[in-house]
Amino acid sequence: MQVLTQTVRFDSDLIVKHDRPTPRYTSYPPATELHENFKESDFIAAIERGNQKKTPLSLYFHIPFCESACYFCGCNVIITGLKDRVVNPYLEYLFKNIEQTAALIDGDRVVNQMHWGGGTPNYLSPEHVEMLWNKIHEHFTFAEDAEISIEVNPRYVDRNYIQRLRKLGFNRISFGIQDFDPKVQEAINRIQPEALLFEVMDWIREANFESVNVDLIYGLPYQNLETFSKTIEKTICLNPDRIAVFNFAFVPWMKPIQKNLPQEALPQAAEKLDIFHMTIDKLTESGYVFIGMDHFAKPDDELAIAQREGKLHRNFQGYTTQPDSELFGFGVTSISMLHDVYVQNHKRLKDFYKAIDKKHQPIEKGVELTEADNIMRREIIMELMCHFRLDKREIEKKYGIDDFDRYFAAEENELKDLENDGLVENTIDRIEVTPAGRLLVRNIAFAFDAYTKERQHQRFSKAI
Ligand code: SF4
Repeated sequence: MQVLTQTVRFDSDLIVKHDRPTPRYTSYPPATELHENFKESDFIAAIERGNQKKTPLSLYFHIPFCESACYFCGCNVIITGLKDRVVNPYLEYLFKNIEQTAALIDGDRVVNQMHWGGGTPNYLSPEHVEMLWNKIHEHFTFAEDAEISIEVNPRYVDRNYIQRLRKLGFNRISFGIQDFDPKVQEAINRIQPEALLFEVMDWIREANFESVNVDLIYGLPYQNLETFSKTIEKTICLNPDRIAVFNFAFVPWMKPIQKNLPQEALPQAAEKLDIFHMTIDKLTESGYVFIGMDHFAKPDDELAIAQREGKLHRNFQGYTTQPDSELFGFGVTSISMLHDVYVQNHKRLKDFYKAIDKKHQPIEKGVELTEADNIMRREIIMELMCHFRLDKREIEKKYGIDDFDRYFAAEENELKDLENDGLVENTIDRIEVTPAGRLLVRNIAFAFDAYTKERQHQRFSKAI
């Protein structure tokens, strides 16, 4: 069955035929390419290159603690009720991490985006939030219109906490719903009654945040088309500015916490397809714009505007409107994404603390894009992922290649099968993802991925 939904055409048969595991392309090369032989000096040299260009900054701060475990969780988290006993030392080291890295970054470089994620950033007390906020502002200069966002767990905030965040200067906020259905919530060990979610949204609106994002997940136990339709309807009533709808990846061999989920209650692939199809229909019919593969935004939201104007970008946090900034991640597991170098901090607290004690950058691994070919492929993949089209002449001009079609003959050949099924159009000047190909854009982008080609697809998730 084919249905036209704005610029997306949902064709279940083609999705089933072509949907193979691929990277999510929040970065190119994907995070799986980061390796432990990466040298700290290469990171420092990359920071210096950004200093020369005065590239603006995007900052990410990671709070790894959570009060209780959600059984679907794929993040690297520390579940603990110890509160101050873990937060105090963590902040002490996070502050050192800030001091150490800020000393390498030119003071003229302005921050135009900051995000606090986790784990659960509101594991911090309001006082701790303020301490961290002040520390960051001691070391960095923020643009007046900087986007400053935080994720909160709705079960652990109150009206006062929300107001304090807004007063401090956070102007965007995000919280996870996943599903409104009590049976699903019980199965995933995340019970947050509907009334609570609406109350949290009221507090957020009252505090006048500029943008509110909520997360949903499909593919969880006990979900079916009917129950998830209700979740979508309730989400529309909640009226957030952005909605992220993620496909649940059941990978208990990698995330043992997922062994707690009743596997027999997970929806089958066909049901998941129906759920996602319904989600796109309902959200777009109610006025949300479908951004990329898994985000929806109101038409006047910056993400929707950026996509319309061809200014949407992608980084490790997903879609972003900040094109030219370099992302610096602070705290355990955080990823930094500079122009040609990506690094990830240590995942274990112990290692993170040890490196900082030795006055080293707490880097566990990294990768450097040493060749222009890699940078060009990154641009091609990101253009396809964000704007679903590619101007071959622009790529030729920018990267000094004579003939796009000759340079990428093998890649274009790989696209043939997708082209024959009407998922992509390859003309003299452009590569264009069709409405039917949009949900398979990762598979189209994959043709240009030189890093992953040699590797087994199985390490990645499917689009749906
Ligand atoms: S609150 Fe978020 S990070 Fe923490 S366990 Fe639940 S899903 Fe994972």
